[in-house]
Amino acid sequence: MIVAIDGPAGAGKSTVARRLAERLGFRYLDTGAMYRAVTWLALERALALDEAGLLAELAEAHPVELDESGGVSIAGTDVTAAIREPRIDKVVPLVARHQEVRRVMRGRQRALVEQGNAVVEGRDIGTVVAPEADVKVYLVADRAERARRRISERPGIGADALATDLRLRDESDAPQTLRADDADEIDTTHLDVDDVVARIEELVRARAHA
Ligand code: C5P
Repeated sequence: MIVAIDGPAGAGKSTVARRLAERLGFRYLDTGAMYRAVTWLALERALALDEAGLLAELAEAHPVELDESGGVSIAGTDVTAAIREPRIDKVVPLVARHQEVRRVMRGRQRALVEQGNAVVEGRDIGTVVAPEADVKVYLVADRAERARRRISERPGIGADALATDLRLRDESDAPQTLRADDADEIDTTHLDVDDVVARIEELVRARAHA
């Protein structure tokens, strides 16, 4: 069974997807971490972020490795912490918007999805990466609440700068952030993580019995 969880930054995807995967005994696939790792490597190699072809070649040559405990590596370097820095938040949409890059990443993501039983989080999972997913959820939340959640994850950046970054990222990611027609939308603004996980588990159970 494949559970696709899409939605904008700060809607709760990662926390919910990780906990849901644990409860179901499924693999957890964080596709945002893959785009972040390629972006980290592009900055490391000082590549221009408008060079779609070069970025796609970079992604092709250096597959992102995701381990069971949430570790992320690329080109032999553990980038688990580095990819969550605000400097990566800011520019990852500039890399992710290139169709050439997306083609490489989606190919890898599909191969992982084909191994079965996974909770997959991202922006285009229910529509493009795994349109056949058994359960599709689209998480949303008020922007103020999404910014508040990010503050606790990004202690090094002030509230105003963070709100601006989030707004800019929403704008740049909009073309990639796609709600599937058959996705269940959950507004997480006033829900805690366990409530959201419980709701999705219900959808999974209903689907398993169908
Ligand atoms: O989910 P997260 O915030 O970690 O994603 C980081 C970035 O990766 C997003 O802002 C977006 O630019 C890109 N992304 C994407 N497609 C996905 C997952 C993430 O374009 N499926």
